[in-house]
Amino acid sequence: MYSKIWLSKPHFDNENFDIIKKTIASNWISSVGPNIASFETSIEKILECKAEVVALNSGTSAIHLALKLLEIGPGDEVFCQTFSFCATVNPILYCGATPIFIGSEKETWNMCPFFLEEAIKDRLKKQKKPKAILVVDSYGMPAKWDEIIAISRKYEIPIIEDAAAALGSKYKGQMCGSFGDFSTLSFNGNKIITTSAGGALICREKHVKKRAIYLATQAKIEGFVHGEVGFNYRMSNVLAAIGLEQLTVLEKRVQQRRENHSKYQSLFETFNGFVLQEEINTDFYANFWLNCIRIDTSLISKSIILNAFSNYNIDVRSLWCPLHLQPYLKGTLYYGDHFSQRLYDTGLCLPSSSNLTSEEFHRIGQVFTTLLK
Ligand SMILES: *Cc1c(COP(=O)(O)O)cnc(C)c1O
Repeated sequence: MYSKIWLSKPHFDNENFDIIKKTIASNWISSVGPNIASFETSIEKILECKAEVVALNSGTSAIHLALKLLEIGPGDEVFCQTFSFCATVNPILYCGATPIFIGSEKETWNMCPFFLEEAIKDRLKKQKKPKAILVVDSYGMPAKWDEIIAISRKYEIPIIEDAAAALGSKYKGQMCGSFGDFSTLSFNGNKIITTSAGGALICREKHVKKRAIYLATQAKIEGFVHGEVGFNYRMSNVLAAIGLEQLTVLEKRVQQRRENHSKYQSLFETFNGFVLQEEINTDFYANFWLNCIRIDTSLISKSIILNAFSNYNIDVRSLWCPLHLQPYLKGTLYYGDHFSQRLYDTGLCLPSSSNLTSEEFHRIGQVFTTLLK
């Protein structure tokens, strides 16, 4: 039996875990304690912009809180990138609001500015104005931020940036996680750095951060008096300790994932029928959280490739199934062409862990060689 090669696994090596022992010894193990604020301040520094960071228990709850802070509720429409993970859209449904999906453009695979503006114009004609635009830096590739922000300003609709997988990526030298009126990060075990489970909401104003913390801690006024329906969304002091250590290796992790990308570039130079996702120009700097390829399905089918990798115990997966095609979201409005569906039909993501070994990479290459013989 072959040992498993994961798509993206947690990576700890040189971190100093004394802080975790000390944290547990201090008995501040829950959602109060000094590491939480330190973790938040450290992320604020990394983002190099006006950022008020709130540490939370997941990326999903960060998106939910952003929507709550924008006072989105039943009857409201929210535009959402269709090419993403279900956690991008589900919080819109938690709020009782209606998602409207926007297709992807062919260069970054993220929200297409053209379809975004078409959709806004069409909704305005119908006397409906979306309350927010939820844009994703999917797989760590920055979206076309200049174009998207210009549209957001023109129509005065706020942006929520789902940068769950894009910490360390940049657009025109600016960090992902800094482009939205709200941005969100995830520190789940499969992301570029992890707190085991965790997330963060990035706001732009201190008073907004204050309200976010209030909502994330059961909307507690004092003692057992609560002002409204709140949530139990705060990150714990123990997980913040893990996060503080992981932040010290973030830059290294970005370099390691980018090295994986270079290896895949060399691999696919030798094969026909595969196109690796690339940065389209120097405005885009991806952390290459995952490496994605599109296959020429007239030469080889996606299912043959998936089967082959599964037989060798290698975690290769389809790209996202567009959200507007999910069984539970059928019939939802969608503005776009068929490109996001094409990505699903022809796209795969490949093992991209920062601790992927040369032997493991060699095994991946061999499966491709065998397949193409
Ligand atoms: C991982 C991920 C999320 C969810 O983050 P969790 O911390 O697992 O809740 C949301 N959106 C995208 C694009 C993701 O990759």
